[in-house]
Amino acid sequence: MIAAHDLSALRSLARLHKVAVSELRTAEKRLFKHRLPVDEVLAALPEAAQAAWRGGVDWHPLVLAQRRDSQLDGASKLAFRTADGATIESVMLRFRTGRSSVCLSTQVGCAADCAFCATGKLGLRRNLTAPEIVDQVLQAARLFRAEGRVLRNLVFMGMGEPLHNEEALGEAVEALRDPERFNFADRFIVVSTVGVPAAMVRFARRFPGVNLALSLHSAREEVRRWLVPTTRRHPLADLRAALAEVSALHGGHTVLIEYLLFDGLTDTHADLEALVAFVAGIPVHINLIPFNPVAGTESLGLRSTPKERREAFGAALKQAGLKVTLRRSLGTDIDGACGQLAQREGALKAPVV
Ligand code: SAH
Repeated sequence: MIAAHDLSALRSLARLHKVAVSELRTAEKRLFKHRLPVDEVLAALPEAAQAAWRGGVDWHPLVLAQRRDSQLDGASKLAFRTADGATIESVMLRFRTGRSSVCLSTQVGCAADCAFCATGKLGLRRNLTAPEIVDQVLQAARLFRAEGRVLRNLVFMGMGEPLHNEEALGEAVEALRDPERFNFADRFIVVSTVGVPAAMVRFARRFPGVNLALSLHSAREEVRRWLVPTTRRHPLADLRAALAEVSALHGGHTVLIEYLLFDGLTDTHADLEALVAFVAGIPVHINLIPFNPVAGTESLGLRSTPKERREAFGAALKQAGLKVTLRRSLGTDIDGACGQLAQREGALKAPVV
């Protein structure tokens, strides 16, 4: 089966059935640019080619099994079923400015085992394939389109660690930013990582315009090792060196740092000093994120820093000359907020879409 994003294979198949160039271009535009349903894509082709494309292409490796819309904000959580029966989640985010974004998964589960994250509790089942990553985008884009919205931002912050699945991530990003295919702008793509130094540098070298976000959470070695166990092999000094190299590869534009504020653990004066020292000399933009409580973390005693102190921490970072944004979480009522993506096998009811 041909993957829906494999343009050269789609073209070869069309040529085999003597599709005229203009017809092929129309079909391609409907698929990649307008992101229309498959029937409308196929309608651009003569009959024989339609049959070949219909039967020979795996248009949707994922089946949308459930959709939950937040009553609080413009978030919708999509649960997709893979061909082998696993469930993964993506989140559609709608902002008041009209901008639309989708949060994408790269693995079924995750091996990183971050102390505070629901996905980590699942362990890793398998990597997603490039077609499965791309299909999340395609299906979300179609849903947005039906609402008169255009999907602009892609954030790899769903289930899984993108840089533990470098090959499929690379193939998907390649297709998504390709001007002949989906044509997403580099500056509107963010890949978020727990911090795999060598893979960060490889990614920045291959896609220098695509944003990388490092989930730092603590610039104190022992605290970070506890919060993000998988990075025990990567001391902060290595991460810092990778960040500097990534920034240089980005032509000096800012690298994003995600920092979760935990009461008494990552929000003290010592934490502030360590963070300021860690990023010194590297152009970064720090996102301060409130902790969304997830089941299974109660016994760890993790509590979010209250709002006023989050604001004070942000103000102190600004005082130190850093760029800072205080994030709020969307989709908390649909378990769609950061770190809450962990649909368990078999937990879905019959399709509701
Ligand atoms: N594995 C990647 C991407 C997935 S997580 C990474 O670690 O960056 C996306 C972001 O959500 C990360 O910054 C992660 O630390 C954060 N996150 C995880 N659990 C969270 C929770 N319970 N509350 C708030 N943010 C959380």
